[in-house]
Amino acid sequence: QEKRDPLVIVGTGLAGYNLAREFRKLDSDTPILLISADDGAFYSKPLLSASLSHGKTAQELSQTSAEEMARGLDAEILVHTRVADINPDTKSLTIRQETGEHTAKIRYDRLVLATGAHCRPLPRIEGDAHSRLFRINNLGDYHRFRTALVGQKQVLLIGAGLIGCEFANDLIQAGFSVEVVDPLKWPLASLLPEEAGQDLQSALENQGVRFHCGCSVLAIRRTPQGLEAPLDSGESLKADIALAALGLQANTSLAEMAGLEVKRGITVNRQLQTSDPNIFALGDCAEVDGHQLFFVAPLIACARALAKTLSGQPTSVRYAAIPIAVKTTLRPTTVCPPRPDTKGSWQVDSGSEGVHAEFRNQAGKLLGFALTGAAITARNRLSAECAPLMN
Ligand code: FAD
Repeated sequence: QEKRDPLVIVGTGLAGYNLAREFRKLDSDTPILLISADDGAFYSKPLLSASLSHGKTAQELSQTSAEEMARGLDAEILVHTRVADINPDTKSLTIRQETGEHTAKIRYDRLVLATGAHCRPLPRIEGDAHSRLFRINNLGDYHRFRTALVGQKQVLLIGAGLIGCEFANDLIQAGFSVEVVDPLKWPLASLLPEEAGQDLQSALENQGVRFHCGCSVLAIRRTPQGLEAPLDSGESLKADIALAALGLQANTSLAEMAGLEVKRGITVNRQLQTSDPNIFALGDCAEVDGHQLFFVAPLIACARALAKTLSGQPTSVRYAAIPIAVKTTLRPTTVCPPRPDTKGSWQVDSGSEGVHAEFRNQAGKLLGFALTGAAITARNRLSAECAPLMN
């Protein structure tokens, strides 16, 4: 009997592995082939911004090797192997091993892209010290940064969004001094109303973090003592090492080269199907019915729905309200941001115990919320009341 072409999944992040796991629960026969540009170790990416203070090495964060994953999933996994191109007409792709020029063709029955996202390009920052400026979006990045931190004291953090604030919380507790610079007026300004952002800022400042909001870094220059970073406010900061946390951009180049429809992410419908009926996408690389969300909860919902679709029960994904626990342990914060461009307003109740903010429309419907400190106990009640992100 001729061997069946496999279900091929490109990417072994949370999206790729969750899909493989969900699919195996429903189908134990179809061959699965996972292909990864990295070493294929399973790890929880959210831990990258909460592990320095626990002294965790990259190796300790990598929970299960690719070999063990292959055994557990009854799948073949090709590691350190990059998919170079896809040919939807012949249902085949070209792979290239990281070491050397060796390429090979692989045929797929169905193909899933779970290629993640990369760090957004830096804004223009002058200077001769870019080798001391780090970004973190995978275990390798974490390893590089953690190694470079040895013997250093002062960290300049560029970006006070979700990941920037989590690193500020982690680095200060790991014993570093931390300066945070962000052009917006308060931390997490694109997600939190001002009172909640200020509340988080004060809690981190009480532990020693210094915020420079409403400013941008103009340059990073080497000095005999370390680094110097002039800001557009006229101030100049000193540091030993810098970390930029400026958000992500979907990895769409493979899909674009294959002629698939791409907007901010790889365009998929609610069945996670791209413009080619045999190719699907989920996770950070995908834009699902217009929603681009770089979080774990939506990719888990997508993995469950797609596993059903791929095993013969076409299933549309739906997103409930998605509350995000910001890992700022010094001031626990939960945010369920309203959809961008939604009409409504924040109603904020702040006290020393925390901030409770609800985003409602004119009819009084709850469309989002933000909670800090003791107020986070309202999370489950508000999540149940909040309008789903996608019905
Ligand atoms: P990735 O994990 O990026 O995986 C992509 C995979 O594709 C990799 O295996 C890569 O090697 C492979 N790949 C890419 N291109 C190719 C190619 N051409 N050929 C072969 N392989 C390829 N979300 C939350 O919900 N809560 C949090 O608290 C939270 N904290 C976070 C903290 C940090 C520091 C970061 C960076 C993210 C955080 N997130 C959080 C976001 C969340 O971790 C991501 O949404 C999620 O991990 C994305 O998974 P993914 O599988 O889509 O992508």
